[in-house]
Amino acid sequence: MAFLELKQLEKTFFSYDSWTTAVEEINLSIEEGEFVSIIGPSGCGKSTLLSLISGLLHPSVGEILLDGVSIKNPTPETGYMLQQDYLFPWLSIKDNITLGLTTMGKTEDKDMELAYQLLDTLGLSDKEEHFPSQLSGGMRQRVALVRMLSTDPKLLLLDEPFSALDYQTKLKLEDLVFSTIKEHNKTAILVTHDIGEAIAMTDRIILLSERPGRIKEQFIVPANLQTMLPFDVRANHEFNPLFQTIWKEMESHEDGSQGDATTI
Ligand code: ADP
Ligand code: MG
Repeated sequence: MAFLELKQLEKTFFSYDSWTTAVEEINLSIEEGEFVSIIGPSGCGKSTLLSLISGLLHPSVGEILLDGVSIKNPTPETGYMLQQDYLFPWLSIKDNITLGLTTMGKTEDKDMELAYQLLDTLGLSDKEEHFPSQLSGGMRQRVALVRMLSTDPKLLLLDEPFSALDYQTKLKLEDLVFSTIKEHNKTAILVTHDIGEAIAMTDRIILLSERPGRIKEQFIVPANLQTMLPFDVRANHEFNPLFQTIWKEMESHEDGSQGDATTI
């Protein structure tokens, strides 16, 4: 039995006069410690899939098993990080990162230790008493990373966490998030529209078709790239051939033609 299993998942949204099937026939197994990315055209159901895995949305058909247990509702075993940090503007950084723990009733020093330790590792310990509006976008995403990890979840879900950042900040944060996830031996799923980011950060890339999203293809990132820092993967000679392969596969579903990738 795999750590995370998606079985024949389908999600249809209904309104009073229409419906939209976002994803269908999704069968996927993810092993403990794996870092998997989900890519695909805009609107193909990537965020819907993560919301289903988080338990925030319920599948119309199918089932999700985390460690053999069916996911019905959000649980502290799953951490979520989004494009926007959703930090509470009226709370200090310290209170933002420990909010999850506080709501779980874990307020003792030993419970808080991981959160403070992470804040320190990510270079933010001097920002504890600051408020989110006093921090840059990159810093706020680092705080969001600490908040996600502070409750020590088993599974991390990252939905385009770098897409609102400038390119340099994004590259630096890719390295930081990658190292943090590896250091804490987490299982993680990254949704991105950036093929390069998927190759640089993850072990396996799941390509979804246009909506309704189905698994079109999977790509295993070469083992030697899997352990490298994302920045170094992008500079490696094996990066571009894989980028081209995935690009062509993605293009082939959008309009039936095969396009050439522009260099990145
Ligand atoms: P992606 O993240 O790949 O861009 P989404 O998962 O956000 O795509 O959306 C997939 C499809 O489902 C889109 O057509 C979107 O409009 C639709 N959708 C997403 N959430 C809802 C919702 N709550 N109600 C109705 N339709 C939705
Ligand atoms: Mg999305």
